[in-house]
Amino acid sequence: MQKTVVIIGAGIAGLAAAWTLQNKSRGAVRCLVIERGLHPGGKIVSERHDDYLVERGPDSFIVQKPDALELCRELGLEERLLGSNMEKRTTYVWSRGRLHPLPEGMMLVAPAKVMPVLRSRLLSWPGKLRMGMEYFIPPRKPDAPEESLAAFVRRRLGQEALEKIATPLMAGIHAADPERLSLQSTFPVFLEMERKHGGLLRAMRSRRQAQKKNAAQGGRRGADGPMFYSLSGGLQQMTDALAVRLKPGTLRLGESVETIAHQDGRYQLTMGDGQKLHADAVIVAAPAYAAAPMVQALDAPLAEKLRAIRYVSTATVSLAYRRSEIPHALDGYGFVIPRTEHRSITACSWSSVKFRDRAPEDRVLLRVFLGGAGAEHLAEQGEAELIDRARVELRTTMGIAAHPLLAVAHCWWKANPQYELGHAALVEEIEHRVAQHDGLYLAGAAYHGAGIPDCIRSGKDAAAMAAEKIQIDRCVSL
Ligand SMILES: Cc1cc2nc3c(=O)[nH]c(=O)nc-3n(C[C@H](O)[C@H](O)[C@H](O)COP(=O)(O)OP(=O)(O)OC[C@H]3O[C@@H](n4cnc5c(N)ncnc54)[C@H](O)[C@@H]3O)c2cc1C
Repeated sequence: MQKTVVIIGAGIAGLAAAWTLQNKSRGAVRCLVIERGLHPGGKIVSERHDDYLVERGPDSFIVQKPDALELCRELGLEERLLGSNMEKRTTYVWSRGRLHPLPEGMMLVAPAKVMPVLRSRLLSWPGKLRMGMEYFIPPRKPDAPEESLAAFVRRRLGQEALEKIATPLMAGIHAADPERLSLQSTFPVFLEMERKHGGLLRAMRSRRQAQKKNAAQGGRRGADGPMFYSLSGGLQQMTDALAVRLKPGTLRLGESVETIAHQDGRYQLTMGDGQKLHADAVIVAAPAYAAAPMVQALDAPLAEKLRAIRYVSTATVSLAYRRSEIPHALDGYGFVIPRTEHRSITACSWSSVKFRDRAPEDRVLLRVFLGGAGAEHLAEQGEAELIDRARVELRTTMGIAAHPLLAVAHCWWKANPQYELGHAALVEEIEHRVAQHDGLYLAGAAYHGAGIPDCIRSGKDAAAMAAEKIQIDRCVSL
């Protein structure tokens, strides 16, 4: 008899799970994807507005983690892959009334070269000196308690590097409070640099030496391709391609799952309209706070732990202008704003500089970010308020006084999971409880990384586990 796997949520994690399951089971498994919304893709939403391409949610994925790039190739989207601009890569930081370029060669907060940091007008001389002292700070003991991003950066590089670089750039990616953000769960590479080399400056020095040695031996000079990729028609081409390739009848839009229960060795799902669905395995790829009520009756402690993963709201505002209306050289990906500057936006991406074909030749498309931990009220507003606020801030930071040719705003309510101190232990407890329910799996941004490649990996892993369980069940019943 054909087995059924139900996947809850058609974001990138759920779709990647369905695609993997379809490929792995070769028709032996009936797969259903239940999505509450009317479109597949979850937070991935790309829209054409005349000649502009607006991303309401994510605008790119990193290539350092290969799953997104691999998936695009698997889906035949190779020719549509679009690398980020390699010539204009500067990131600016707003500080003391102007935009300062981030010193060249920074790996987020870790400087690769001394001279650009010394020349930078972003940091004060005491701040630069304190960063340089990092070289002499001994590593922490391996069994020391978990540290927040703020504690780690303050200890190694000082308060100024924390305020002006780490908080807007690193905590900004997660829309998080740096004092609560777990370094281990978000940027483990920096912990590894400390453990392996004794510090960040030492690690960067040995990296440079390895690159030089490699170049002298005729090898490539390391990461010299684009760091970010998108698709020519926007990231939604990836989720659309997944949805189209699923077998007819797999994707059920506009339906929601309310509860999951055990019944006669299978799962019984109760839908929003009272309908019942039966499944041999279930992959919950909805946000953790949406998964919690589904499993409340099945496993109350699991539901409680899922609720403990906090989410915050953010918003994006895309604005288009004539190039001539923007006084800045626009020679980079955009700018970030430290919290200490007390402005009401957190960053601005220069979308049409970062990726080509996002706006006509003589126009510019910008994307402003608002909200995040401690500033959610600034994101949870109507479209008109978000646009007004973004325009006021762009006038101050970039000197743009013109009326925008296009303005599109979107509030992402409780969209960003917070990987706070203790996140790894909490996820371990969640997974331990989930493992008590044979055939139940979790996937998505809440657990092992919120970036698109991480979400794809989580979907694929959950699908592989579900396929294995079904295979075992089949062998047992033979
Ligand atoms: C503004 C913004 C910008 C971002 N930028 C980037 C970026 O540039 N690069 C990057 O890598 N990442 C970025 N991210 C993060 C990334 O977009 C997300 O982490 C990822 O898309 C989440 O995918 P997911 O499948 O886990 O969840 P989602 O996309 O949230 O999908 C979950 C789905 O479950 C559905 N659902 C919920 N409850 C139910 C229910 N009861 N029944 C049925 N369906 C249900 C929802 O409707 C939703 O469609 C950004 C996020 C935001 C908010």
